[in-house]
Amino acid sequence: MSQQENARVRTTGLYVNPVGQRRADFQKACAGLFDGLRVADGAEQAASMQAQEPAGVLVLDLERFDPEIDLPALGALVAARGGRPLLVLCPFANARWLAALMQHGPLEYLIGPLDPAATHAQVEARLRQGFAAPHAPASAQADLAALLAVQGQAQAALAEADDSGRFGERLCAALLGWPGVVHAALFQLHGEHDLRLEAQQGQSGLDLSSILQRRDRLLQSPLRHAFPGLLAASSGEMALLDALDKAGEPALAVALDAHGVRMALGLPIPGAGPGAPRGALSLLFDHARPFSRAALGACDNLAQLAAFGLRMGELLSESEALLGRVTHLATMDALTGVANRRHGESLLEQEIKRARRYRLPLALIAFDIDRFRNVNDIYGHPVGDMALRVVADTARTLLRASDVLVRSGGEEFQVIAPHTSAIDGLKMAEKLRAAIAAAQIPGCDHVTVSLGVAQLGENESADSLAVRTNAALARAKRAGRNCVELAMQ
Ligand code: GH3
Ligand code: MG
Ligand code: MG
Repeated sequence: MSQQENARVRTTGLYVNPVGQRRADFQKACAGLFDGLRVADGAEQAASMQAQEPAGVLVLDLERFDPEIDLPALGALVAARGGRPLLVLCPFANARWLAALMQHGPLEYLIGPLDPAATHAQVEARLRQGFAAPHAPASAQADLAALLAVQGQAQAALAEADDSGRFGERLCAALLGWPGVVHAALFQLHGEHDLRLEAQQGQSGLDLSSILQRRDRLLQSPLRHAFPGLLAASSGEMALLDALDKAGEPALAVALDAHGVRMALGLPIPGAGPGAPRGALSLLFDHARPFSRAALGACDNLAQLAAFGLRMGELLSESEALLGRVTHLATMDALTGVANRRHGESLLEQEIKRARRYRLPLALIAFDIDRFRNVNDIYGHPVGDMALRVVADTARTLLRASDVLVRSGGEEFQVIAPHTSAIDGLKMAEKLRAAIAAAQIPGCDHVTVSLGVAQLGENESADSLAVRTNAALARAKRAGRNCVELAMQ
C-alpha cells in the first residue's frame, strides 16, 4: 500500500444513477477508494438507504436523469445531506442542474463526460483533500463583488441600448470585467433558425467567427453540440466545459487552447415564453474554476439582462417600422398610393429651395381628368376610382425617380419635376397626355387629361407657381381638353 493511500481518509460511499451499466462502471473504477461503496438507482432508493445509514460521501451522477421529472427529488436528497460531503457529476450540456441543486445545499461538482480513469483520479483527489468549500471565503467574496460590478455595467449598457448591435458590444465589454474571462460573445436568433454572432469582445486575435467558421446560421454549425455558447442557444440549457476536450471536438479544443482558453461557459438568453431561447452569451475563461451558487445565480441575472436588452432593441426597430407606416399613411393618398396634397405642398417647398440653391430649373405640371363627372355618372363611382388608379399608375411609370407625383385634389394631379425646364416640362406633359389617353381602363375604355406646365421663375413662391400652372390647365380645358398648355411668365 502506497503512502498516498495510507494518507487517504477512508470513508463509505453511495453512488446514485438510474443506468445499471454506469453504476457497474463506477463501482469498477472507484469501489477501491471507499470503505464500502453502495449504489442506488434513483433519488428514492438513495433517500431510504441514507435514512438507514448515511454514507460518508454521496456521489450523485446526473447523466441520464431527466431534470424536469427528477430535480425535486434530487433537490430533497441534496437538502438531506445537510452539508455533508456531496459530489455531483454533471453533463457539460446541463450545467443549469448544478445551479438548481445548489439551491438545496452545498455541493462540489465534476463536469462530465469523464472516462473511468479520470473519474477515479478526480474522486480520489476529493477524498484526499476532503470536501472543503470550493473557494476560500475571501476569494469567493472578491469574485462575487466583481460579478456584481459586471452586472452594474451590463445594466448601464441596457439603459443606453439604442440598437441591439451596440448593446451587444457594450454587454460583452462589461462581461470582460469578470476575472478570468478573456472573451465574451453574444449570439442572437434572427427569425426562427438564423443564429448569428451579434457581438464579441476580448483579447485581440481571438475571433469566434473564424473558430466557428462562420458568423450566421450557427444553429446549423457542426459545432452546435460542442461549443457551449451554441449549445446554450440551441438547447436553452446552461453549458459548461471545464476542459475543452470533453466536448469531443479535438479541432475546436485545439483552436481555443491556442488562445489560452481553458474553460467555456454558455448561458441561454431566455425568449419571451417557453420554447427556443432568444440567443446565448458565451464566456471563455483562461482557467478552469468552480462556480459557487451565487456566481451561477449572477449568470442567470446576466442572461436576463441580455434578454431585456435584445427585446428593447427589437421594440425599438418595431417602433421605427411603425413610425414609418404611420408616416406613410399620413403622407400618401390611400386610393392611388401617390403623395397627398399636404405632403405635395411640403415637397414642392423643398424642391424650390433646392432648385434655388443649385440654380437648377424646376417645372410643375398640373393635370385634371376630362369630364370625369360623366365617368362616375355613366359607369359608377367604383369605375371612377379605378380610372383614378390607372391614371396615377400610368403617370408613375413614365416619371423619373426624382419626379414626384401628387394627388392634389379629387381628379387633379401634379408632377413636381426637378432639373426640368419649361421646354422639357412640355415634352413630359405631352408624353403623359398621350400615355393616359392610351391606357385601358377596365369598365370604361379610357379617359383623357388636360395639362398645364410652368417653370419656376426667379424668386417665385410655390403659391404663385401653382396659380400659373392651374391657369395654364384651365386654358387647356378651354382649348378643347386632352391637350397641354404652357404657362405665361
Ligand atoms: P372637367 O373636364 O372640366 O374637369 O370636367 P369634370 O367633370 O372632370 O369636372 P368636375 O370638377 O365637375 O368633376 C370632378 C368629378 O370628380 C366630381 C367628383 O365626383 C369626381 N371625383 C372626385 N374625387 C373622386 C374620387 O375619389 N373618386 C371618384 N370616383 N370620383 C371622384
Ligand atoms: Mg376634371
Ligand atoms: Mg377638377
